[in-house]
Amino acid sequence: MKRVALLVALLLTTAVAAAGDVRIGPQGPGFYRMRVGADEVTALLDGTHPFPADELLTHVDRARVDDLLKAEYLASPVQGSINAFLVKTADRLVLIDTGAGPLYAGDGGFLPMALLASGYRPEDVTDILLTHLHRDHVGGLIRNGTMLFPNATVHVSKADADFWLDTANERKVKDILLPMFPGAMDSLGPYLKAGRVATFQGETDVLPGFHAIPAPGHTPGHTWYLVTSGSEHLLAWGDTVHVAAVQLAEPGASIRYDVDEEAAAASRKRALDEAVAKGYWVAAAHVSFPGLGHIRRTASGYAWVPVNYTRTP
Ligand SMILES: [Zn+2]
Repeated sequence: MKRVALLVALLLTTAVAAAGDVRIGPQGPGFYRMRVGADEVTALLDGTHPFPADELLTHVDRARVDDLLKAEYLASPVQGSINAFLVKTADRLVLIDTGAGPLYAGDGGFLPMALLASGYRPEDVTDILLTHLHRDHVGGLIRNGTMLFPNATVHVSKADADFWLDTANERKVKDILLPMFPGAMDSLGPYLKAGRVATFQGETDVLPGFHAIPAPGHTPGHTWYLVTSGSEHLLAWGDTVHVAAVQLAEPGASIRYDVDEEAAAASRKRALDEAVAKGYWVAAAHVSFPGLGHIRRTASGYAWVPVNYTRTP
């Protein structure tokens, strides 16, 4: 009886709301979990950010951008997800990228909430693998200027560390990229001071089951991480694709945030071809949350196949 009364009250509330103002509530904390081999992979949402695709994409007609967005019921600016990925192995808890943290004003900084909601504390993270040192990937390393992950070792390619942690390189980039230098220095600073940053070079196993693959273009040391457990693989491909609705149909389309737009396009084509050929999972930083899925080929390009939602992974 009580339940019926509750249902009636709920229906009345909905009806009243429909007639007047409907207050739209917020989303819950963003985490999504799946299994890759014996590993647990948890996508963590740091936030979403309005991305002016029509202004930022290059090597593609603006009209074509608008058409491709329209075909997916989108328009510029597109809300882009800021995803990070937590991988739990038998003996480690590895976070791939950390989101924007405080560096994207109110659009980011929700990763700690998602992490806690998913059942982990920042202190539990043993290693952080950075795909590159842009603000929306390193900003989440710190909170109030101190290490958010006090027990973690931060791994990053030497090429990216050398580039973004040296102000002498500011003259080599477009103005749009200048804020990336202080972003990288401030976010890595406390870890550098504590001796908790480890760099690596070229293609190498950074940790058992985590293989770094250089994918330059977006940044000089932009890196993919191939996570392997048993016979299953997941490729965390960082910023290989920013606007899936456009760049999968037009893989030659780069963005102004790429340090080298041509090299970024070449890396993107390589990633898409390999994802199709090998059929492995892709974990994408800016594809709509959870950013986990596969790539399939279409008549003229590629398409994203999002993970099939599963309540009990
Ligand atoms: Zn990014």
